[in-house]
Formats: sequence, C-alpha cells, structure tokens
Amino acid sequence: MLSHAEKVGRVSGQLRERKSLAPVTLKKKGVSHQMPKPFDKKYSDEKLDISDFDDILSIDPAERICLAEPGVSFSDLVAATLKHGLVPMTVPEHKGITIGGAVAGGSLESMSYKYGGFHDSCLEYEVVTAKGDVLTCTPEKDSLIFQMLHSTFGTLGILTRLKFRLIPAQKYVKIVYEKYDSIESYKAGILSHYEKHDIDFMDGMIFSQNNCVLSTGYFTDKAPFSHSYEWTRAYFPTVQKGKVDYIETADYFFRYDNGNTDVFPKSFLGRLLLGKFLGSSTTLKLAEKLRKVMPLPVTADLFIPFSKLTDFMHWYGKNVDFFPLWCVPYRLGRKYEWMSEQFIKRSPDELFIDLAIYGMRRYDKNYYRLIEEELIRIGGIKALISSNYFTEDEFWTIWNRDNYFKVKQQTDPDNILRDLYEKTCVAAMGLGR
Ligand SMILES: Cc1cc2nc3c(=O)[nH]c(=O)nc-3n(C[C@H](O)[C@H](O)[C@H](O)COP(=O)(O)OP(=O)(O)OC[C@H]3O[C@@H](n4cnc5c(N)ncnc54)[C@H](O)[C@@H]3O)c2cc1C
Repeated sequence: MLSHAEKVGRVSGQLRERKSLAPVTLKKKGVSHQMPKPFDKKYSDEKLDISDFDDILSIDPAERICLAEPGVSFSDLVAATLKHGLVPMTVPEHKGITIGGAVAGGSLESMSYKYGGFHDSCLEYEVVTAKGDVLTCTPEKDSLIFQMLHSTFGTLGILTRLKFRLIPAQKYVKIVYEKYDSIESYKAGILSHYEKHDIDFMDGMIFSQNNCVLSTGYFTDKAPFSHSYEWTRAYFPTVQKGKVDYIETADYFFRYDNGNTDVFPKSFLGRLLLGKFLGSSTTLKLAEKLRKVMPLPVTADLFIPFSKLTDFMHWYGKNVDFFPLWCVPYRLGRKYEWMSEQFIKRSPDELFIDLAIYGMRRYDKNYYRLIEEELIRIGGIKALISSNYFTEDEFWTIWNRDNYFKVKQQTDPDNILRDLYEKTCVAAMGLGR
C-alpha cells in the first residue's frame, strides 16, 4: 500500500520520464460514465494507471471538509461522511461516479439548484501536469488552472487530490411529488422553489408536454415508512404514481442507480432475479463490451437556459418527442471560465435546466447532431459525455478557446492528453490520432 505522496511521486515520475508524445489515457478502477463509443481511440491508447487513487484521506467534521483521492466513488464517500452526519454538497445519482470524474466531466444532481455542480464545492485540487509537475491549485493560487479543470475531461492534467466542502444531513429524505399539466406551470413551480429556497432537493421528470412531475425533497430525521429502490423496486415509475415517499438518505442519493428512466429489467420477477446485480456500473461495463456489436441507445445531457425552456420544448416536441426526460434545475452561481464570452452573452441566465435523454432506441436520424444544432441556436450546451458532432469552429463558440489554451500551454504543452475538442469530438468518434 503506497501513501498518497508515494502514489503522486510514481505518476509524476512516469510522466517526467516518458519520451513518447503519443496520447495517453487514464486507467481507473471504476467504470467510466461516458457513453461507450465503438471506435473511441481511448481504448487503444497507452494507459497511465491511477487505479489506486481511491482513498479518503481525511474528514474534518468541525470544519466540514473532506480530502480525498479522485477515484473515490460517491457511494463510498457518502457512506464515510454519513458517519459524521455529513454529505457532499452534490452527489451524482450513480454509485460508481468518482469525485475526479465528477469534476473533470461535470456532475450535478438534485441539490444543484442551490449549489451548482460538485466542482462548485471544491476548495483545492492537487494536479499532476503532463510534464510531471505537481501543482496545488485553489481559487486564489493558479486560479485559472483550478477553474479550467472543471468539465475539460482530464485534458489539462491529472487530478490526484481534491479538497471539498460537506454539509449536514439527516437520516431520511421526504419526497413530495408535485404534478403539473403544462411546461409553463412546471416552470412556475421550479422558479418558485428556486427563488424561495424552501426545499433541500429538486429534480423531476417530464413524461410529456402536459404531464410533468417535480420531485421536491426535504431532509428529515423521522419517517412514518421508507422505501428502498436498490432491488425489486425501480425508482422512476414511482415518480409518476406517488404522492409522498421517504427514502433513507444514502438510498435517496442513488435512487436512479438502476436506471434513470431506462430501467432493466422492469417486471417484479425480473427485478427479483436480476435487479440487485444490474446497477449502473454493471450496465455500463456490459455496454462497453458490446459497443461494437450493438447500437447503444441515444443518451444525452442538455443544459437549457431557463428563459429558453418553452422555446426548446416546442422544438423538441416537433423534432424528437421522446419521453420521459429527466429534469434537473442547475444554478450557475458564476459564469464558468470554460464558457466563451460569446456563449455568456447569448445565455445570461443564472438558472439552467438539465434535461437528460436516456435509453432512446431510435436510429432514423442523427439525433445528437439535430440537438446540437438547436442548442447552438438557443444558447444551450450539450454535455460531452456521448457522441459529439460539433465542428471545431462551432465548438469554440461555446467553450473558451483562449482560457483553454492558456492553461494547456502550462500543463500539457506537448498535447499528450489531447485537447478538449480532439478528445471529445474527434478521437472519441474514432478519428484522428
Ligand atoms: C449513462 C450515464 C448516466 C449518467 N448519470 C448521471 C447522473 O445521474 N448524475 C450525474 O451527475 N451525472 C451523470 N452522468 C454523467 C457523469 O456525471 C459524468 O460523465 C462524469 O464525468 C462521470 O464520472 P466518472 O467517475 O465515471 O468518470 P469517467 O467517466 O471515468 O471520466 C470522465 C472524464 O474525466 C476524466 N477523468 C477521470 N478521472 C480523472 C482524474 N483523476 N484527473 C483528470 N481527469 C480525470 C476522464 O479521462 C474522462 O475524460 C451520467 C453519464 C452516463 C453515460
């Protein structure tokens, strides 16, 4: 067992001594929550092994601060922090998502309407550059590097340690399902909670343009009953049927782990036999194995400025019309440094709505491209976790080219981690080097 400093020394030494300028990809212990792409170059790249970076280094209950390595999964993190009555400020809904992946890939969840993404709770990153230098970045020190590590998919350096805030938790989450019969009334419901801050959690499902559910959650220490959605029960169907529910806090965070809206198997018998074994990590591992022989469902995460939601849903109804959509309000507390000036001018909203499409098995059109074009028109963002068809010029009207390459020059001047466009829109699609 190596200490944290020894692990960092190993990775930094490997990078310092490396002569090749060929691209390198990280090898982690957990499965990646990126949609597998059949010809992604990452599968044949040389690997840099960071699979032992999975220790929680310290939890300070008085200061409510945690120090941990990037490969720690949210399920391990929540189990450890709950012993102190604390939880991370943002807990993505799949158990196997790691804290490093959450920063580099950009994770969010039902507390995002208050706190933004997981990275917004981070205070410090230790990062190893592609040249093997070890930096400690904070919002004050090497601040542009610190800010740009978010959502740049590990193309600006390797996160090796993260320091982040925790918040107090209670034993259960009470969920009240609010039903709305139009997008307009749904928006009014979201805005009301957003402005009043009267709940702890907010997410929801759009089952159709006139059947929308807002799941509003409250921490509580008392519950008249509680449900678990780990095995025989799948969570998402209950959103449509239920009125009130209680879930133990850890189970609440991972309520979608067996599928956000694409639960398999669905029947009681199927779930009894297989439900316990088909969580998100297993399903994604299987999808990765089958990626070349089976078309995978369309999976996309779309950030829509709140002021454009009606406009977008109108377009969506005519051009895609696939439901349910998972809906997560997201507060953009500050304009992130990776956003271009052009994008910020076009989309000044503070509140965004993340709409996620899962499990759409339709291949008659290139839906990814169709959606990209519409999001460019309205000033939205498509997360880079699945297939991407942006041209390079389009891409850098959303992402901030100047800030990106300023940091790239410092942390990876030989481009062994690939640049963000090259990694997510070229190599991921089986093209280029
Ligand atoms: C099917 C599916 C469901 C999803 N559901 C949710 C959800 O419910 N909630 C949510 O918030 N998000 C969800 N996501 C998105 C997810 O949060 C992001 O994809 C996140 O980046 C995944 O983290 P990971 O730990 O799996 O990282 P990975 O997928 O392994 O990595 C993500 C990126 O970060 C880079 N990276 C990883 N570790 C490091 C490191 N130590 N240093 C530098 N770079 C690193 C990787 O190279 C990669 O480019 C989902 C994605 C998919 C495909």
